[in-house]
Amino acid sequence: MLKIKDLHASINGKEILKGINLEVKPGEVHAIMGPNGSGKSTLSSVLVGNPNFEVTKGSVEFMGKNLLDLAPEDRSHEGIFLSFQYPVEIPGVSMVNFMRSAVNEQRKYRNLPPLTASEFLKLMREKRAIVELDNKLTNRSVNEGFSGGEKKRNEIFQMAMLEPKLSILDETDSGLDIDALRIVADGVNKLKTPENSCILITHYQRLLDYIKPDIVHVLYKGQIVKTAGPELALELEERGYDWIKKEIGE
Ligand code: ADP
Ligand code: MG
Ligand code: MG
Repeated sequence: MLKIKDLHASINGKEILKGINLEVKPGEVHAIMGPNGSGKSTLSSVLVGNPNFEVTKGSVEFMGKNLLDLAPEDRSHEGIFLSFQYPVEIPGVSMVNFMRSAVNEQRKYRNLPPLTASEFLKLMREKRAIVELDNKLTNRSVNEGFSGGEKKRNEIFQMAMLEPKLSILDETDSGLDIDALRIVADGVNKLKTPENSCILITHYQRLLDYIKPDIVHVLYKGQIVKTAGPELALELEERGYDWIKKEIGE
C-alpha cells in the first residue's frame, strides 16, 4: 500500500527527514514512536503534501502511484487521511458543510454522484455514533470552541466519514483522558478492515493497549533507527529511549 524509500525532507533549508524507509501493507497497523522533535509530525506532513516541507530525495508510492506527484487534495481522494496533532479551528465553516464538501469532492473524484441531503444526514448520524460525537458539535464551526478531547474525537469522526485506505494518526491520544482515549481507540478499531492500514504516531504505550500494532518503529533524528514487534513499545515505556541511542552508537 505504502512504500517510502530513502525519503529526505527539509523546512527552510533545514533537513528534518534524513532517509526514511517504511513499507505498510494492507491491514497492517504500524506505530511510530520516538522522542520529541524526531520528525514524526514532519513525516505525516510530507505524506499528505504540506507545502511548507520540501522533499529533497527519495520516493513515496501509494497504491502503486507516485504520491509525491499528487496535490494534497488528490492524496486525500486517493485514500490518505491525517488526523492532526493540533487540529485547527475554522470559524464560519460549519462541520456539516465542511463534511458535505469533503465527502462529495471525494465522490466526484471517484466518478460517483453527490449524496442526496437525506443520504448525507444518514451517513453523518451513523459515523457520529462511532465516536459518540454530539449532534450539537456537528452543527458548529469546525473545531471552534471544542475541547481538546472533542477535537480529537472530531478527527476520528472525519476519518469515519471519509473511509480512508491509510490513516495516519498523529498523537491523537495526547491530551485525552482515559474515557476519551477509549472512545477514540474504539472508533479506530471499529473502522479497521483487512484492507485498511493505520500509522499511529504516539509517545505512549497506553494507546497501544487499545489499538494493537503489528509493527513498532522508533524514529529518531529523522531516521527509523529500530523496527520490531509490539513488545518494543512496552520496552520503550519501561526503559525510555536512551538504550536505543546507545545501540546506534551515541
Ligand atoms: P515530532 O513530531 O517528532 O515531535 P516534528 O516533526 O514536529 O517532530 O519536528 C522535527 C524537527 O523539525 C524539530 O526540530 C522541529 O523544530 C522542526 N520543525 C518542525 N516544523 C518546523 C517549522 N515549521 N519550522 C522550522 N522547524 C520546524
Ligand atoms: Mg512532538
Ligand atoms: Mg509531532
